[in-house]
Amino acid sequence: MSTKTTELIVSKTNLLKGLDQALQNYKVVALTHRGERVLYDYINSTDEIELHCNATVLPLKKYFFPQDETIVEYTADGKFTAKVEAKPTVLFGIHPCDVNGLKILTEAFADDHGDPNYLAKRDLAVVIGLECAKLCDKHAFCSKVNTHYATSGYDLMLYPQGDQFALEIATDKGREFVAKYLATEKAKGDEIALFCQEKDKNFAVEPPFKDLERFPELFEANKLHPIWDQEGARCLSCGSCIMVCPTCFCFDVKDEWQLNLEKGRRIRKWDACMLNDFTKVAGGEIFRHTATKRLHHRINRKFDYLMSKHKMAVCVGCGRCVRACLADISPRTIAEAINGEKPIKK
Ligand code: SF4
Ligand code: SF4
Repeated sequence: MSTKTTELIVSKTNLLKGLDQALQNYKVVALTHRGERVLYDYINSTDEIELHCNATVLPLKKYFFPQDETIVEYTADGKFTAKVEAKPTVLFGIHPCDVNGLKILTEAFADDHGDPNYLAKRDLAVVIGLECAKLCDKHAFCSKVNTHYATSGYDLMLYPQGDQFALEIATDKGREFVAKYLATEKAKGDEIALFCQEKDKNFAVEPPFKDLERFPELFEANKLHPIWDQEGARCLSCGSCIMVCPTCFCFDVKDEWQLNLEKGRRIRKWDACMLNDFTKVAGGEIFRHTATKRLHHRINRKFDYLMSKHKMAVCVGCGRCVRACLADISPRTIAEAINGEKPIKK
């Protein structure tokens, strides 16, 4: 349920016109068709934008935490240069689950000393959210973890109303963007409230998990629950679930020298705790050597270890891992077994 009130309306025509102008100063990422698929990608014109609510294979993390990123360059005579690359970017049409995923990722990379590579990119980004009135598909379960609304982590939020949008301004960065690029008009009624009433009706069929706030405690108490063996036995340890997850951020760091040994670079690459050698240490010991142990670790990161820290489930229910998994393993099934919402099939 939302308590926001509508101040401004922007027509679809004026929104796209403003974004076309913004393309002169920003790189713009939006939902767009590439062949048969809809995905987040850089666009050159707003004609490429897909405004309908579709689930993408990959989330937004690739724009802040690339799959393969040079973080240091160095030479044989001992000179080091830290590489931090960031460009002003607009992320347009981001659904609430992905706004929440990005918020968790930002908190993780801002923790402790902060990660300069991630934070430089995030600081230069304007996030324009696009509300969705209903679940994307049968695999999404955002309302089960209360991420079907975003309360922070965006600069502007658009609430679709036919050929126009109610516009919520959440930050000063958002206000500046509106002043510079969007022709708006004053709202006549409370369009956001109307949108949310309709949305609440659609999501009422998928209420939050029973005892969601107690998940860390419940997962701690159920380390030996039979669901772990049942689901772990089917896991292929392919790591696909990690690659597509908006809140998974494990990485490996490697050094690469040129063949002439004059220059080298330090790269970080995505890694995956579902892979067998993720915990391999010198001497060859592997600490989580079964798929069951690895699945237990991954799901407990979402609903136990990190949940208390982020004050929300670290799974945003986007359903990407469920769509990607050949073995049909879902965090939802595991959560429902652990909280007793659905007994496991024998
Ligand atoms: S665990 Fe699965 S459903 Fe949850 S956020 Fe990650 S990809 Fe989405
Ligand atoms: S849970 Fe599914 S996607 Fe993840 S590693 Fe196992 S088989 Fe692969």
